[in-house]
Amino acid sequence: MIMELTVDLHAHSVFAGGTQALKLTPEKYSENKKKAVNHLKKTNETMPLKGIDLIGTGDCQFTIWTDILKEVVIEDTPGIFYLEGNFHTRFILQTEIIFTLPIKKHSKIVHIVFLFPNFTSVESFRDLLTSWDVKHEKMARPFVKCASQAQVSDRIFRILEIDPFIEIIPAHIMTPQGIFGSNIKLTRLSDFFGPVTDRINILETGLSADPQFLGLIPELDTKTLISNSDAHSSALHRMGREFTVIRVSKIEYSHIIQSLRSNKVEYTVEFPPEEGRFFLTGHRSGRKKPGVHDNSQYCYFSPQHVPEGDICPICHKNLTIGVFQRCMEVAKAQGISRNLNSIIPKQKFIRMVPLIDILSKARNVKTRTSKLLIRDYKHIVSIIGPENILWKITLDEMEEKLSGQVDEPILNALRHVKKGNFTFYPYGYDGEYGTLKLGEQGNFQDIKVIKSSTPLQQKLY
Ligand SMILES: [Zn+2]
Ligand SMILES: [Zn+2]
Repeated sequence: MIMELTVDLHAHSVFAGGTQALKLTPEKYSENKKKAVNHLKKTNETMPLKGIDLIGTGDCQFTIWTDILKEVVIEDTPGIFYLEGNFHTRFILQTEIIFTLPIKKHSKIVHIVFLFPNFTSVESFRDLLTSWDVKHEKMARPFVKCASQAQVSDRIFRILEIDPFIEIIPAHIMTPQGIFGSNIKLTRLSDFFGPVTDRINILETGLSADPQFLGLIPELDTKTLISNSDAHSSALHRMGREFTVIRVSKIEYSHIIQSLRSNKVEYTVEFPPEEGRFFLTGHRSGRKKPGVHDNSQYCYFSPQHVPEGDICPICHKNLTIGVFQRCMEVAKAQGISRNLNSIIPKQKFIRMVPLIDILSKARNVKTRTSKLLIRDYKHIVSIIGPENILWKITLDEMEEKLSGQVDEPILNALRHVKKGNFTFYPYGYDGEYGTLKLGEQGNFQDIKVIKSSTPLQQKLY
């Protein structure tokens, strides 16, 4: 029997920030274990509200985390786990590793998600990392520093040789730390991966892109595109903010991998790219870019308005290139010019604005973990079902279910989103999330904003 399974295959554990694992005392271990188990329990509460069946453990090779997982999870079917006593959410062994490669005096950084069928393969993977001198005991998301492209390819082949069902998924491929990101501009997957490119079947869209934007890039036409939250916390506005619905015949690890490899993706659910932290090209204010800009200075641009040479008109340093611009550049470099507006995505997807963000606007409460917002959220879910249902039903169906049940400002905010009557001001750029604005529409293809209290020394065009 074929069934739909909703998955989020890229998340992080409570150890993602790194910890001095080697120096851990037994007391520290039990403190960490408590933190980690709490995270799993919260995940168990959050995922059903979102309508997600299965999520990655994150950081699965990080020794302290592997040890805790082995203690507290139970294998349900081969490669699929649940937290003892909590059956709502299933877990899959997953991590994100950072590969680096020197290119023209710089270091190309590429984040890669790996999925593992069992703990034995995770341990063999860790042995490989040790043999390559990777500091995996201190970092949950370690760096694998490679000297050449041949070494990148060879090392990934060696990881994949551990077990035929280990899967490689280049992460958030258009962001600065993705394969096509701006830190060093590459044109094709093989520019980084070399011969192992043939083993790459699945790529992650990332929060700032979706199948429509990625439809600009010819090389991706034959690939499976999936969406994941890349969540670093179990909060409602982070976990499951993007996910993928696949068709499987059994909820077993190997079936899930086969389904992904053969592109049995029913649809992905996408965060609005314009809200993503790297959507437009720009430089943020000094509040988060100290020493470069002062607090009143920032700028961001749609591709057609980016200053020549990608140079910031305020500080004259290189701008952080947005995902939108990179999609256009990679498409052009691959020799085919496609128009974003006329692309018919090969893969179905649903755009959603996270419900908690809409509630935050409707209630004018900024803290998205506030009790009031969570109460509203759970109330809506109790009427409609998990959040993913809200994005599948029609406007009329939503009205029918929610009229008289929720406060008018909330219903009104939901109407705006359902009708596509929203934008972001500003859009996401240079590591800043976009800010939702309801009841207005914007054109992200025609944006040029430069805010500076000091006169610009450079002509723009
Ligand atoms: Zn990453
Ligand atoms: Zn600047």
